[in-house]
Amino acid sequence: MLKTISETKNYIHGAYVDDNYEKINIISPVDGSLISTMPMSDADAVDKAVQSAAKAFKSWSAFTLKERVQVFFRFRTLLESHKEELVELVHRENGKTLGEAAAEVDKGIELCEFACSLPQIVRDEVQEVSKGVECRTTHVPMGVVASITPFNFPHMVPLWTIPNALSLGNCMVLKPSEMVPLSAMRIGELLAEAGLPDGVLNIVNGGKEVVEAICDHPEIKAVSFVGSTKVAKIVYKRSTSALKRCAALGGAKNHLIVLEDAHVQMAASNIAASMSGCAGQRCMAASAMVAVGKVDHIIEKLCDEARNIICGENLGSVISEAAKERIERYINDAEAAGAKVLVDGRNTVVQGKEGGFYVAPTVIDFVTPDMAIAKEEVFGPVIAIMRTDSVDEAIAIENSSNYGNAAAVFTQNGGTAKYIIEKVSAGMVGVNVGVPVPREPFSFGGWNDSRFGSHDITGESSIGFWTFLKKTTTKWNPKAKTNWMS
Ligand code: NAD
Repeated sequence: MLKTISETKNYIHGAYVDDNYEKINIISPVDGSLISTMPMSDADAVDKAVQSAAKAFKSWSAFTLKERVQVFFRFRTLLESHKEELVELVHRENGKTLGEAAAEVDKGIELCEFACSLPQIVRDEVQEVSKGVECRTTHVPMGVVASITPFNFPHMVPLWTIPNALSLGNCMVLKPSEMVPLSAMRIGELLAEAGLPDGVLNIVNGGKEVVEAICDHPEIKAVSFVGSTKVAKIVYKRSTSALKRCAALGGAKNHLIVLEDAHVQMAASNIAASMSGCAGQRCMAASAMVAVGKVDHIIEKLCDEARNIICGENLGSVISEAAKERIERYINDAEAAGAKVLVDGRNTVVQGKEGGFYVAPTVIDFVTPDMAIAKEEVFGPVIAIMRTDSVDEAIAIENSSNYGNAAAVFTQNGGTAKYIIEKVSAGMVGVNVGVPVPREPFSFGGWNDSRFGSHDITGESSIGFWTFLKKTTTKWNPKAKTNWMS
C-alpha cells in the first residue's frame, strides 16, 4: 500500500502558498490509493506567479549564461543523489513501472546535461558586414514564459522546458498536469536546493482555468504546451491570438510499416516494447502497424512477446479508471466491427493491487483504416494491425493520419527503408527502431496535428523558441566611409 504524502500547494517566489482553493484528490493508478490533494487554482494565482517571475527576471537575466547553468550542474547532481525517491514518486503518481520511471529520471538528467552545454552551443555571431561596420547577433532572454505539461511523463516533460528556458535567462510559470503534480513540485524543491533564486520558477496547480489565464496573461511572452491535440489547438489559438509565441505539442498515432524481410526477433521485440512501454501512454508509442505482404511469422512472434509482458511485473498501470474504460472501448468496437483480437488485455486485475487500473498488451489484427482504432489516439498498450500487399498503400495509410509525431519501418533492405522514410509524414522517423526519440542535441517535435508552432521543444531548436534575437550594427571608426546603407 502506498503512503499518503503531504498535500500539494502552489509554489510562488520560493514559498508554498495556500490560497484556500478547492482541492482535488490525487489518486495513485498503481492501486487506487489517495496519495495527495491539489488546489484547483485560478487566474489570480497565475497573476501572482507572473508578478513573482517578472520580479526575479531583472536579476536572473543579468547573469551570464555560464553563470546561470551552474544551477543546473548542481541540480543534475541532486537528481542523481535523489534518484531512488524521484523514481518512486513517478511510479506512484503515474503508474509506470519502477524501471520505466528510472529511465524517465535518467532522461531528465540528460536534459539538464544539454542545458549545461548551452554556453558551448549558443554562440552569438559577428561579421564585418561593410568596411569598418560589424553586425552581431545576441540571444536575449524573453522575460516571463510558461510551460504546461501532461500526465504521461510527470518528471521528464517539465524538464523538456525548465533547464533550457531558465538557462537562457527566462523566468517561468509551470502548470503541471492535475493528475501528476508531485514530481513537478519536487523538481521545484531540488532546484531551490541547487541555488535557483526565488521566483525564477513558479508552479501553479490547477486545470483549464489556469491554462486559459496563462494564455491570456499580457506579461507572459511565450507558452510551451504538451498534451492532447484537442487542447494543443485551444492553447495555440488562444495564446497566439494574445500575440504570444507558442509551441503546442499534441497527440499522436504512430505507424510502424513492417515488411516481410524484417529481422523477426528484432522487429517483434521492438514493436512489442514500443506499443506497451509506459502502458502505451507515450506520444511516441507504436499504435498502428501496417503489415506489408506475408508477415504472419512476425505477427506470431509479436504475440509471443506481448504475452510475456505482465501487468504489475514488467507493465505498469494506465492513468485512471476512465483511461482503462476508453482503451477497452476501442478494443470492443474494433472487435465488433470485424477485427480479430489475437492477444487480449481487457479485464486485467493485478493481485494485491485490485484498486489499480490495468490493461495488458493487446494485439488486434485485420483492422481496417476506417475503424476508429486505426485513426484515433488510443493511448494504451494496444496495437492495431492493418494488412496490405503494397509499400505504396502502406505509405498512403500512414499519410492519411492527421497526426505526424513518429513513424518507423522494419526491413533489412536499405533502399526500401529510405524510400518509405522519405515519404512518411512525421517529424520523428525510425528504421528498425520502435520509439525513434531523437536525443540531444537533436530536437523533439512532430508535424501536422502533433505539433503547432514553428519550433521543436528540446535540443537546439528550443534555443530559438526561448530567446529573442537582437541584431546589433556597430561602427567605431570615424574614417569608415558612409555608403548606400548608412
Ligand atoms: P491533456 O491535453 O488532457 O492535458 C494537458 C494539459 O492541458 C494539462 O496540464 C491539463 O490540465 C490541461 N488541460 C486539459 N484540458 C484542458 C482544456 N480544456 N483547456 C485548457 N487546458 C486543459 O493531455 P494529457 O491527457 O495530460 O496527456 C496525454 C496527451 O498528451 C496525449 O494526447 C499524448 O499524445 C500527448 N503528449 C504529446 C507529447 C508530444 O510530444 N507530442 C508528449 C507527451 C504527451
